[in-house]
Amino acid sequence: MKSMVEFAHTLLTGVLTPGDIAVDCTMGNGNDTLFLARIVGAGGHVFAFDIQGAAIEKTGEHLARSGLAAGGVTLIQAGHQSLNQHIPAQMLIRCKAAIFNLGYLPGADKRVCTTPETTIPAIEALLAGISPGGLIVIVVYPGHPEGARESDELLRFCADIRPEVADVVTYQVINNRNRPPYLIAIEKNSRA
Ligand code: SAM
Repeated sequence: MKSMVEFAHTLLTGVLTPGDIAVDCTMGNGNDTLFLARIVGAGGHVFAFDIQGAAIEKTGEHLARSGLAAGGVTLIQAGHQSLNQHIPAQMLIRCKAAIFNLGYLPGADKRVCTTPETTIPAIEALLAGISPGGLIVIVVYPGHPEGARESDELLRFCADIRPEVADVVTYQVINNRNRPPYLIAIEKNSRA
């Protein structure tokens, strides 16, 4: 069975092609940023966000080691909720996919973690701004207290997205009682 992150990557592979624009909303150590950068290539662009300076540093090093630094990747030290201030609207409308890998960075300060107060406005901004048919994938970690609250609020928010705006699906393990990670995928309607 694929892990939630592997499944998220599989979905992204299905929509992204070289030359596309993509957003990593939670850069962390840069694994998802690199994954996106490899697909869109030098002719495309990846905007990656994190509030922690250490994430920018680690991802920058990671990109340099991979020979991808010269390509089109912009590392932004800011909350994803401010994405409209950092991505020009004419580029956001060309964005085909975005990923959130929620929670905290393993090995770092667990108090620095995503919250529904910023995750939901960022999803709203993406839904309004990205390309029709674009995909937003969200890996959710309800197994810690703040993650459980975020998961509950996200599910409430997603259930209220009108079908004319987007289709929303979840991918989850249903026979594990310890609230394992799961995935939400939001596909913007091609006419929205
Ligand atoms: N995608 C990462 C990777 O490949 O290593 C892992 C991401 S980690 C689970 C979650 C990250 O979200 C942390 O690095 C944290 O600093 C970041 N974060 C928390 N709140 C944020 C916000 N409002 N905007 C952007 N990033 C945020």
